Amino acid sequence: MTSPSATRSRTFELRDLIRPNIRSLKPYRSARDSYEEGVLLDANENSYGSPYAEAAELNLHRYPSPAQKELRNRIADFRGVEVNNVFTGVGSDEAIDLLMRIFCEPGTDRIIITPPTYGMYEVAANTNNVDVQKIELTSDFHLRPEAILKVADFNSKLLFLCSPNNPTGNHLRHIDLIRLMEKFPGIVVVDEAYIDFSDRKSLAPMVRRYPNLVVLQTLSKAFGLAGIRLGMAFGDPELISFMHRVKAPYNVNALTSRYAVKAFDHLDKIREHVEAIREERNRMVQALQLIDEVEHIAPSDANFVLFKIARAREVYSSLAREGVIVRFRGDEPHCENGLRLTIGTPDENDLFLSALKTILSSHEYLD
Ligand code: PMP
Repeated sequence: MTSPSATRSRTFELRDLIRPNIRSLKPYRSARDSYEEGVLLDANENSYGSPYAEAAELNLHRYPSPAQKELRNRIADFRGVEVNNVFTGVGSDEAIDLLMRIFCEPGTDRIIITPPTYGMYEVAANTNNVDVQKIELTSDFHLRPEAILKVADFNSKLLFLCSPNNPTGNHLRHIDLIRLMEKFPGIVVVDEAYIDFSDRKSLAPMVRRYPNLVVLQTLSKAFGLAGIRLGMAFGDPELISFMHRVKAPYNVNALTSRYAVKAFDHLDKIREHVEAIREERNRMVQALQLIDEVEHIAPSDANFVLFKIARAREVYSSLAREGVIVRFRGDEPHCENGLRLTIGTPDENDLFLSALKTILSSHEYLD
């Protein structure tokens, strides 16, 4: 019997999917691509240094490394892949935009998304004048692989899947993901922004078997570093090399890189926070189940919970008036009256619960 990987690589030619102008792109090269040390008189930096001590101590008068080898090595070790499987960028949002620019010819090609899902796929497509085809999830928020494959053709260059999915919180079924990796004619992007809150293993190591798979991750969630803007993409080395050719030369700045590398020295703390969030998630689900007005709570593998509540938009505004900000998601398919609650600290979660109970017992809500 032929292995799935053999099937995939026989039928898949990455270069056929890449836009012709990107295929032939001559990337910007700086001397730092070849030499990172020496008497550095190549990049028109200010050799006299930065104007204040904190910046000077960190050598911030120098451009950061274009290749980010140290950081990419740490990430590769952590996820069990090779360094040439890893791209680092300004949040995963940068990777989403780059993929669009590498694969989708504006006005001709399409992406497929599966609403309700993360909003940036569509925004990035719109900014690049790329059409968006929507194949909704089922009402219990799972994929419809056959419906996706039915509409997919040569111009469907990217399929964005999010697992665990934002805003619903559940992970997508492994069997459906595999079927799409096997059969989708373009690139399958699996966004794993919330993977470390889930019991599932990351698909990142599968990029070795599936050259059409790109896995996105970020340090913004489980790693607690949203402020530094560090996202990553895992993929086949050839695909990753195209991301490097198209990116701005110094996309990951020196401060971000430094803070990101350090995170991998603090994995115990990260695991502790993740465990605490998962416990709080269970507590909040139980607390929400006891509230009569809460109509449905979606099972969550992430650090947030989507629940449905009567008159959700009013509840949302009233919560904001009480100083508690959640996200209204009631406009998304299958999410009528949906609110998305990020799991906070125990104190923050208690404040949310007491504000919610106050609102639900108030005259305006009852009238
Ligand atoms: N993917 C998903 C599913 C997200 O929910 C988010 C952020 N809300 C991102 C990507 C963006 O992550 P980053 O901060 O790395 O740009």
